[in-house]
Amino acid sequence: MTEYIATIGLETHIQLNTRTKAFCSCRADSRDDLPNTNICPVCTGQPGALPSPNAEMVRKALRLCLAMHADINPVSYFDRKNYLYADMPGGYQVTQNYQPIGVGGWLDVDMEDGRTVRIHIDNLHMEEDAGKTRNEDGVRLIDFNRAGVPLVEMVTQPDLHSADEAAVYLMRLRQLVRWIDVSEGDMEKAQLRCDVNVSVAPAGADRPGKKCEIKNVNSIEAVRRAVNAEIKRQTGELEAGRPVEQWTIEWDDEARELRKMRSKENAVDYRFFREPNLMPVVVSEEMIRKVRAEMPELPRERKLRFISQYGLPAYDAGLLTAERETADYFEETLKVYDGDPKRVSNWMMNEILRLMHDLGISAGALKVRPADLAEIIRLVEGRTVTMATGKQLIDLVQESGKSPAEIVNEKGLAMVSDDAALREICEKIVEAHPKEVAAYLAGKETLLGWFTGQVMRETKGKADAKRAGEIFKRIMNYELEGVHNERL
Ligand SMILES: [Zn+2]
Repeated sequence: MTEYIATIGLETHIQLNTRTKAFCSCRADSRDDLPNTNICPVCTGQPGALPSPNAEMVRKALRLCLAMHADINPVSYFDRKNYLYADMPGGYQVTQNYQPIGVGGWLDVDMEDGRTVRIHIDNLHMEEDAGKTRNEDGVRLIDFNRAGVPLVEMVTQPDLHSADEAAVYLMRLRQLVRWIDVSEGDMEKAQLRCDVNVSVAPAGADRPGKKCEIKNVNSIEAVRRAVNAEIKRQTGELEAGRPVEQWTIEWDDEARELRKMRSKENAVDYRFFREPNLMPVVVSEEMIRKVRAEMPELPRERKLRFISQYGLPAYDAGLLTAERETADYFEETLKVYDGDPKRVSNWMMNEILRLMHDLGISAGALKVRPADLAEIIRLVEGRTVTMATGKQLIDLVQESGKSPAEIVNEKGLAMVSDDAALREICEKIVEAHPKEVAAYLAGKETLLGWFTGQVMRETKGKADAKRAGEIFKRIMNYELEGVHNERL
């Protein structure tokens, strides 16, 4: 059996979340606009219109370069990539072909199987987005609202060898661009776009296999499926003794199938030349220093610090650093609550992440603030309220915006741990359920949990469950025992 090795390269386009477009003052975000209402002579390629570069685009590109550990070219240039396409009104795209802003770079990615893989980047360059076309009733419609929105294109070196690795890399890249606030990174909204090159060759082959390119896959899970399908297809060809042809492929995620778009023609000649209307981009040492100084601690570094500083399991640290606001929330809570960090992590993972998920909002937008969470944990630890009430408090604070202590007072949620009060409730339950008592006394000890559950129901979760269990045992094992035997 021959073993086959897959080699995968990813070309990603990252839409920068600047306020305005790359070379004009039209808004960059035109999601809510009617087609062709957010345009001007520059972004529609009118003859004689003069572009002027957006400083925010350069700063964001620089920030991404630094986060990716790329070398910065002190001087970079814009070039014209000439081709005729309906959504590119000027007949060319402004890009950086010869001297891009960032060269090299890498991202360390912790894979699902525990390995850390360093993914190298060829270069990072700025360019402008194209418009959008669609077909409607046999008519080709064009919307230029997106034309001229700034992008950074990043191409990986062939460091990836499975669909899972490609998917994890994309997840980490999306996390990074959101974390450093250069892009919203939503693949379904095309703010992060990805073309995937796949080639399969027998292990130990001295030449890599022919590359096939899968175009525009628009979710991470779709990338995983598409790459798996393509690896399978190419392996099948090689096993059947057929050469793999160099194709450009489209992935239909709904039908879960690959479609050949075209055989890869010879490289198109884009007749690149320096864009004459734009000055070179000059990045000073001081500018780099400033962008570096503003850079937050990056997600992987923060995850590793959560593991070493707080003794969290890698799983917890990974979830808590999925978004910067969540990581901030965790550390803010620890500033107020100075107990076991793992306890805060448990509350975050079980309750706060659940609430964020239910409401579809980020940690920063929650009404339950870190100080509230700290207070709730302390109320539970100090046995002022039960665990069940603590969980309830999370929702109640979120709904009312009041402090946990205020809600406990108002609603009378303090734990019932007073023996006399508990005993009264327990006795009533024992009286009302003779069958269960008999079964318990006949040896079905697991019923104790059921009895405790009844107390919790009776008190709406406010009873001290451990105490209630002890009281039940005393009543049934010692006090009822005699009565029960007489009945026999
Ligand atoms: Zn414009």
